[in-house]
Amino acid sequence: MTEAVSVARPNGAFGSDHPIGVVVLGMGNVGTEVVRILRDNADDLRQRVGAPLALRGVAVRRLDVDRGIPAELLTTDAESLVTRPDVDLVIEVMGGIDPARSLITAALNAGKSVVTANKALLADYTGELAAAAERSRADLYFEAAVAGAIPVVRPLIQSLSGDRVNRVVGIVNGTTNFILSAMDETGADYAETLAEATRLGYAEADPTADVEGYDAAAKAAILASLAFHTRVTAADVYREGISRISAEDLETAAAVGCTVKLLAICERVPAGPGEPGPKEGGKERISVRVYPALIPRKHPLSSVNGAFNAIVVEADNAGRLMFYGQGAGGAPTAAAVMGDLVMAARNKFYSGRAPGESVYAELPIAPIGDTPTRYHVNLQVADRIGVLQAVAGEFAKHGVSISTVRQEGHGAGARLVVVTHHAEESALADTVAALAELESVTSVTSVLRLEGTEE
Ligand code: NAP
Repeated sequence: MTEAVSVARPNGAFGSDHPIGVVVLGMGNVGTEVVRILRDNADDLRQRVGAPLALRGVAVRRLDVDRGIPAELLTTDAESLVTRPDVDLVIEVMGGIDPARSLITAALNAGKSVVTANKALLADYTGELAAAAERSRADLYFEAAVAGAIPVVRPLIQSLSGDRVNRVVGIVNGTTNFILSAMDETGADYAETLAEATRLGYAEADPTADVEGYDAAAKAAILASLAFHTRVTAADVYREGISRISAEDLETAAAVGCTVKLLAICERVPAGPGEPGPKEGGKERISVRVYPALIPRKHPLSSVNGAFNAIVVEADNAGRLMFYGQGAGGAPTAAAVMGDLVMAARNKFYSGRAPGESVYAELPIAPIGDTPTRYHVNLQVADRIGVLQAVAGEFAKHGVSISTVRQEGHGAGARLVVVTHHAEESALADTVAALAELESVTSVTSVLRLEGTEE
């Protein structure tokens, strides 16, 4: 912004008539809503910022689509748009890595502040982009990149910056939550429910990024980086999707008072197996993982259904906080973008700056094998005396302590459902391999983690 002249308004507020120039990269689901809010709420935005926001241009791929805005605002030349002298703020809602990465970098290098919703990009390149922002003293805001409308990025960066966050657990992908909720409700299998989700527009034609947990892993990387002041990228996140979850898994979960959710879990863990935990004064690592897990129906996340998202943050002094709302969709995501835009515009107007990246703690990341979790193991077994003993023996041999065992059915349909106490992934994996070799075990039908219990 050039020369913001502050003038006293009749209501006592200070402001300027000199516009702050904004460009939007992408006019799809989110970009269309951003442009609408910029137009419909122009007066309020002007009051909140202190100066009018002027839309200077919108970058798209196709110019032959009627988008309901003056044609002269549209361009395919995003590169020229982001460095225009009359542009102060760049909103990136085009998605993907390239050219979003180079455009954001060019904008930041030119001193423009950037608001982005691009979790895939941030999960791998926050360090690089934050460094560019730092060099040019510009802002990089990304509230919309995690859980759409839900304000969780700013609480982690700002509201909780005086506390110590120990754990962040969330349902951060609406597509998978829609599918798992529907499977739980109807008893339908995964393929049938995915087809229904696609028909209703909750799943994309290629659902891989959602159902295999890539989208949730990108968000987990961002959340963990913020919560633990450590740079975490998508490659650091252990990831399993929901495509192997069966109707039977939901049924067994229901039988033990649980449901199945795809969880993103970020937490402080001990420096090694058997080491004292962070709470006991030991050194610490962080564990960042995404997988489907059983959670008790009384856990607050179990009632988060359909396409909704929720995130529980646990901190030393604040205790447990829960954030709930619409994790996707054009308007909800645009709401988060607009919140960032107002912050970035105010910073331009008042010559302030957003907090930069905070990665001072550099905590090591624990491999999944060392991560202690509880398990729910479902076995098809021979219906005869001694089976229980043989199965229990394998758990004991590998140091995995059993919490409960339930026997169901009989004859060819005999099953054992074993719930463990906390055990390391690697010990459980060895136990499962050994169980599969037992003559009395027909098959290990499923192994699901159990989260959200007070053991
Ligand atoms: P979208 O509907 O696919 O829209 C993408 C837009 O970007 C389109 O207008 C497209 O132009 C334009 N575009 C793509 N590549 C371009 C290029 N190289 N040059 C110029 N324009 C280009 O995407 P979306 O759903 O709005 O998502 C946008 C971003 O928000 C993504 O990073 C996504 O992860 C994030 N996000 C989305 C949601 C959500 O609910 N949708 C929620 C949270 C975060 P055309 O219109 O000409 O094709």
